[in-house]
Amino acid sequence: MESKTPLIGMNLAQLLDVAEKCGLPRFAAKQMAQWLYEKRVTTIDAMTNLSKKARAVLAESYTVGREEPKAEAVSVDGTVKYLFEGVNGRDVESVYIPDHDRATLCVSSQAGCRMNCAFCMTGRQGFHGNLSPAGIINQILSIPQSSELTNIVFMGMGEPMDNVDAVLQVIEILTEPWGLAWSPKRITVSSIGKIKELKRLLDETKVHVAISIHSPFPSERAEIMPVERAYPITDVIRLLAAYDFTHQRRLSMEYIMWRGYNDDMRHAEALTRILRGLSCRVNLIRFHAIPGFDKQPCPESTMTAFRDKLNQAGITATIRASRGEDIMAACGMLAGKKRE
Ligand code: SF4
Repeated sequence: MESKTPLIGMNLAQLLDVAEKCGLPRFAAKQMAQWLYEKRVTTIDAMTNLSKKARAVLAESYTVGREEPKAEAVSVDGTVKYLFEGVNGRDVESVYIPDHDRATLCVSSQAGCRMNCAFCMTGRQGFHGNLSPAGIINQILSIPQSSELTNIVFMGMGEPMDNVDAVLQVIEILTEPWGLAWSPKRITVSSIGKIKELKRLLDETKVHVAISIHSPFPSERAEIMPVERAYPITDVIRLLAAYDFTHQRRLSMEYIMWRGYNDDMRHAEALTRILRGLSCRVNLIRFHAIPGFDKQPCPESTMTAFRDKLNQAGITATIRASRGEDIMAACGMLAGKKRE
């Protein structure tokens, strides 16, 4: 049996195309968008302002495409990790992080990743495929807390800029009035700094940007992030310097701290030097040990001293609270596997 095409993940132009193919009036596209993204129906039959005949024609080739998570794991801190059907038989994970008046979902954009960062469980498993816009937006629409979400971060499995077309389309759906009509200020996309695609994100959207930096020294960064050789951090910073992050849009630099590796004052000073003139803040991240990577978490007191040194040099730095470590949901721990 031929599988049906999912409607979620489509933008208005694509829904217009569907309407045309099915012989429906053009306004049916907006109606479909409303059912999919505002009313969040799970069946075509629930789109009750489309005629019965229109729904029947649509259902011949299309389906809404919503898929429930296959499994979940709940942390003692309230974080919930969801497992979704990914692509090519590989699952992906999303992490729901409630925090006072915020409820953030960390979404995946790829099954696995080809960036191969040494400290990351996703990188370890290699690359298995790009998620479609449907596969990404389904994570947002299909978790039980979907309607409570206040923020989306593209920081789950995969490098979002390595699947830039799908990510841009999902941002369009999240922010357009016919979609979820969110402010772009509620969305953050993280990247290792794939330059050409990052430039598209900066030009075509107004979302916040987070760049994984992890070391201010190119040779050291290349040791833990092989992508440094293709996308040197100095080039990434040069690109970012051409954009305005002083008003609505925020830029953050992500810096995982390892004991005795990148946590001394020499690193703090070098970081200050390369970030000088850039309107950004630095998020210092606690490392969570993973099998097969020999570096260890940095002591709390060293992290605090590092943060203070950056702050004294005029760079806003904060230590990011760690969430969901007990369910392997913290930064760098996502592997797309159900736990035994
Ligand atoms: S840290 Fe991000 S870019 Fe690096 S391997 Fe993991 S998922 Fe990919």
